[in-house]
Amino acid sequence: MSVALRILDDGAWLSVNDQRRVSVSELWRLHAPEFCSCELVDFIAEGFTEVSADGRDVAVTTYGQCIECGASGVPGKLPVGYIHEGEYRNYDREHVIMEPITNRSDRNQQ
Ligand SMILES: [Zn+2]
Repeated sequence: MSVALRILDDGAWLSVNDQRRVSVSELWRLHAPEFCSCELVDFIAEGFTEVSADGRDVAVTTYGQCIECGASGVPGKLPVGYIHEGEYRNYDREHVIMEPITNRSDRNQQ
């Protein structure tokens, strides 16, 4: 699979094949009970630090905060889109509840 994933502008953008596809300051709903005590986290993304293709998911390691309680930090890798037939597609991030990808079995990091 030859999809180029990159973080640009000090973490402000995720670029896929040299197109800016995901920006920070989106508001995401997370099911992340380890992040804060809110039932669902109203998470505002403040920066991306890493991107990975995890199976077909494209996931960004994102820091930000819960606008409900103010907790801030890194909830984990969040799936923002996926690869379908070699092309990147966005998930409907405003309408889904995201779940951080945790401990998905070890990947080979080269
Ligand atoms: Zn919270």
